[in-house]
Amino acid sequence: MSRVYNFSAGPSMLPEEVLKTAADELLEYGTTGQSVMEMSHRSKEYDAIIKEAEADLRDIMNIPENYEVLFLQGGASTQFAMVPLNLMSKNNKADFIVTGQWANKAYKEAARYGEARVVASSADKTYSYIPKTTAADFDKEADYVHICMNNTIYGTKFHELPDVGDIPLVADISSCILSEPIDVSKFGILYAGAQKNVAPAGVTIVIIRKDLIGNAMDITPTMLNYQTHAENGSMFNTPPCYCIYVAGLVFKWIKKLGGLTEMKKINEEKAKILYDFLDGSKLFKGTVVPEDRSLMNVPFITGDEALDAKFVAEAKAAGFVNLKGHRSVGGMRASIYNAMPVEGVKKLVEFMKKFEEENA
Ligand SMILES: *Cc1c(COP(=O)(O)O)cnc(C)c1O
Repeated sequence: MSRVYNFSAGPSMLPEEVLKTAADELLEYGTTGQSVMEMSHRSKEYDAIIKEAEADLRDIMNIPENYEVLFLQGGASTQFAMVPLNLMSKNNKADFIVTGQWANKAYKEAARYGEARVVASSADKTYSYIPKTTAADFDKEADYVHICMNNTIYGTKFHELPDVGDIPLVADISSCILSEPIDVSKFGILYAGAQKNVAPAGVTIVIIRKDLIGNAMDITPTMLNYQTHAENGSMFNTPPCYCIYVAGLVFKWIKKLGGLTEMKKINEEKAKILYDFLDGSKLFKGTVVPEDRSLMNVPFITGDEALDAKFVAEAKAAGFVNLKGHRSVGGMRASIYNAMPVEGVKKLVEFMKKFEEENA
């Protein structure tokens, strides 16, 4: 067996140790005589798995008591509708900072249910930076302000949160969850699809301040009401059981590693290796302004589409896969999520150096 270095933006690499544990427990979990895949979600064994996953997530993210943790389905994309259906019920208004395709989708979906407003956008420069805002830019009557914290496609990240005063801040953290410590108390809602940094595709994590639950619009389908899931411990219907189990293994892997402070150090080390190389390279260049660079998604180009394609093909043959940029932007993108080892980034940079010499 030879495993490649997978730079996919998602679904992406999982820690090898986690995959091994999952493999060991695949046929029989503990002494239950069955796989987690086969278990009743109402069994006491599964109840322990989901409760422990939640407790570990609360521990590593330091989630305050007044926040609910929900394990839902439908991906981050379902949250684009679920957030407005549940929150836009006071003044039927929400403000958006549009920093890429995902942020724009959240805005467009909210516009179907109320008065959605774009407060700032970086569309003018292909989303290569994070626009600056002040508290005065936001409508005091907005029911929430939405941001996409890490822009998976364009490789930008909010290193500082916008000052939104007392308006609940909602953030899509699909591609940066668990990559570094985050002050949960600054947010009304945090949500993330799991397939970037947490688990296989299929579970969506929602962390929501309790006072924001229970205000859904009348038209809200039962399954899209946060209250439904909060009142039923994420078990109103069958949850994505196996994904939650793997997420739990990933939480334990992070705890063992030293938590999110340690995770951040490793992620900074990896990102620095790649950005330093890009900054010194005569062939490759990063596409994002340095101050807004993501730790997780690193887009770069040669400036020549044919050469980009040659690079992607040769990298793939050498065991560095999924380096092609998003179809909407072209070029290359290396996603270096938590599970990518430092060694994988070092080897990628060695490969890029060699490619640069050969194609000078
Ligand atoms: C991948 C991604 C999404 C879409 O997630 P799904 O789970 O496929 O709906 C949304 N937002 C961001 C920031 C993403 O990276």
